[in-house]
Amino acid sequence: MKTLHLLGVVLAMAAFGPAGGAATKPNIVIILADDLGYGDLGCYGSPTIRTPNLDRMAAEGLRFTDFYVAAEVCTPSRAAILTGRYPIRSGMCGSRRVLFPDSKGGLPPGEITLAEALKTAGYATAHIGKWHLGIHPGSRPLDQGFDFSFGLPYSNDMDARPGLPSGASGSPDPPRDGWNVPLIRNNQVIERPADQTTLTKRYTDEALRFISQHKDRPFFLYFAHTFPHVPLFASPAFKGKSRAGIYGDAVEELDWSVGEVLDAIRKHRLDRQTFVFFTSDNGPWLTMGDQGGSAGLLRGGKGSTWEGGMRVPGIAWMPGRIRNGVTSELVHSMDLFPTALALAGVQRPDSVELDGIDIAPLLFDYRALPKRPFFYYRGDQLFACRIGEWKAHFKTQAGYGQAKPEIHDPPLLFHLGRDPSEKRNVAAANTNVITDIINAVKAHQAMITPGPPQLQ
Ligand code: MG
Repeated sequence: MKTLHLLGVVLAMAAFGPAGGAATKPNIVIILADDLGYGDLGCYGSPTIRTPNLDRMAAEGLRFTDFYVAAEVCTPSRAAILTGRYPIRSGMCGSRRVLFPDSKGGLPPGEITLAEALKTAGYATAHIGKWHLGIHPGSRPLDQGFDFSFGLPYSNDMDARPGLPSGASGSPDPPRDGWNVPLIRNNQVIERPADQTTLTKRYTDEALRFISQHKDRPFFLYFAHTFPHVPLFASPAFKGKSRAGIYGDAVEELDWSVGEVLDAIRKHRLDRQTFVFFTSDNGPWLTMGDQGGSAGLLRGGKGSTWEGGMRVPGIAWMPGRIRNGVTSELVHSMDLFPTALALAGVQRPDSVELDGIDIAPLLFDYRALPKRPFFYYRGDQLFACRIGEWKAHFKTQAGYGQAKPEIHDPPLLFHLGRDPSEKRNVAAANTNVITDIINAVKAHQAMITPGPPQLQ
């Protein structure tokens, strides 16, 4: 059993924001897509993929132009979302990049997840979808603060059947029985291989049931979709319908699912007391060609620390409570943890360092957030840093297919305002900016204690 070192629960009223007054603690819902790119939603400029539900969520909510995840691949990014910490602190990163079925480690029991923190304030907690934070006792969803869990323990392209042709996962029509991934409900395997064509639908059914069952008490739903990670599958209602092929089918079904969840929240009259955040765990898997998504005008994709690897869609929703519109404030996935705690009236844990801030002032008060550096890690290596509009790359490496990073000394420097596609290196004319960024990196690295590596 892990010991929680929370300072206790404070009264929620003050933390609920100036529009507040509700005595009820708000529900928290995080919806995560897997490998969805910055350019893959209608509201982020996709000309081909239809996402009316996410577009409506964005219109009613706050859409972020500069939302980042803490890693360029699945496992470390998810660890950061649920712990509020750079993954190097938990050891959930390294040269192996993600957890594999034969990995010995997982999310360490000593980490405090958002589910554990919210449980101290009486929240019901559910994990639905992909986990990818460990399959061993101590790391599984029920060991990490979730009352209920339904989904896959890792990526849907793992556990390939013997004899499966290489490249099958990136096929437009992958074999349904090609991967022996188990579908697990509360530590029990209920289907193996999981029928991947039904996953989005069944995840959604479970989410709606959880919301309905807990409509009278505060709940935290962590809904982490399997798609659009390859191999791509869609149910008969969506297969073959999108102009963007099977990738578009999978995203359009995911969009349907978001609509179902928001409709359920409205139907139960919980929309003014439920904070929903939609994002993706990392950028699009560009090496999958038509079966990978698009980062829009951003450079690079999944696996790299170019913008396309780590800047992803981010939409906050709590209609009538948080502002609606578009913001270019720099916000990242590790901010969700302290923000959710503030909304729930729970103090930050004193036994771990958090890397995010409470963004409620932006959400509720239209107040600018403090300017702070953001650090781009690949594995346990810091590759780049952004402060304000400036981003310096100390190392660069293609997401896949490049064995070693290219070292940049002096670093590459891009102005993300004038050059969001990172095309024009302006280091030579801005040496003072580089000095500031190097100092921020030194200060950051001096306060980071790497956790024992977990991915081996
Ligand atoms: Mg991913």
